[in-house]
Amino acid sequence: MPSLPLFPTTVAGSLPKPAWLAEPEKLWPKWQAEGVALTTAKEDAALLWLKVQEEAGIDIVTDGEQFRIHFVHGFMEHLGGIDWAKKTQMGIRNNRYVVDVPTVTGPITRKRSVHKDEVRFTRAHTKHALKFTLPGPMTICDTIADQHYGRRADMAMAFAKVLNEEARELEAAGVDVIQFDEPAFNVFMDDVKEWGIAALETAAAGLKCTTAVHICYGYGIEANNKWKETLGSEWRQYDEIFPALNKSKIQQVSLECQGSKVPISLIKHLSDKVILVGCIDVASKTAETPEQVAATLREAMKYADAQRLQACTNCGLAPLPRNVAAGKLAALGAGARLLRAAV
Ligand code: ZN
Repeated sequence: MPSLPLFPTTVAGSLPKPAWLAEPEKLWPKWQAEGVALTTAKEDAALLWLKVQEEAGIDIVTDGEQFRIHFVHGFMEHLGGIDWAKKTQMGIRNNRYVVDVPTVTGPITRKRSVHKDEVRFTRAHTKHALKFTLPGPMTICDTIADQHYGRRADMAMAFAKVLNEEARELEAAGVDVIQFDEPAFNVFMDDVKEWGIAALETAAAGLKCTTAVHICYGYGIEANNKWKETLGSEWRQYDEIFPALNKSKIQQVSLECQGSKVPISLIKHLSDKVILVGCIDVASKTAETPEQVAATLREAMKYADAQRLQACTNCGLAPLPRNVAAGKLAALGAGARLLRAAV
């Protein structure tokens, strides 16, 4: 990994797809091309976002998830044991939204490498530290119906094993940070402690690169915004899971701090982890100011050493307009620079 400054900047993962690649501002957009033209368009979009991130001063960059429609299904598409024609209507994230999901009908296997070509391409085009995001086992299980395993914990462990095969391959292809996205972690808090963290550690087993977990309150879409209104004046879900996560082998934990009701003091539970402080709200279309970003980091410094803090986005920026996302990245980079100069 290239050496990093104080308050390294990074993104939670996804960035908007340009309108020539996919329908803009949608979570499940349709591609605008197919075949070789689509592959080229995805690569062009990844190059574009590498450039935007580098110019913004983002230290640990991603491909912006330009190669996949959705962070969960993009991985599952290439696995065996899933019947995509057998759609089951399922309330996901504890019935926050209802979607048609595919069904597990046999043992989960990884038929081939899923994201290696994407990593190779991205790695060849940036000298910055590179992060790659994969869905976490619990979140996968909450986005698919089960007619084979019977217990979610067993299905999660099966997904964790194929995730681990994939992660090891991506590490060998030059990824510096592998981040597992587990938005389901602050929905099923008991399951997290019973089997969620064990499944996550299985997915990350044996990796020598940096490992991270992203937990969040979801994209800034209507269903999430409504759910957030029911969570009260302080969101303390992390209180239940952070102590257990702090004991895990995962090195970094991401949480959302900007424009959310998460008390930032909860990072006290993560005394052994690097903390990815969410300084960019994904539910607002107004870019933060560098001063706001710096202020959020300063707040975090009250509860954790500066050396353990990274400046990050609350969640993926995928559903936002492209120019808004670019403005937010610029603010993130500028805010970290501001604070570096001040401390
Ligand atoms: Zn998220």
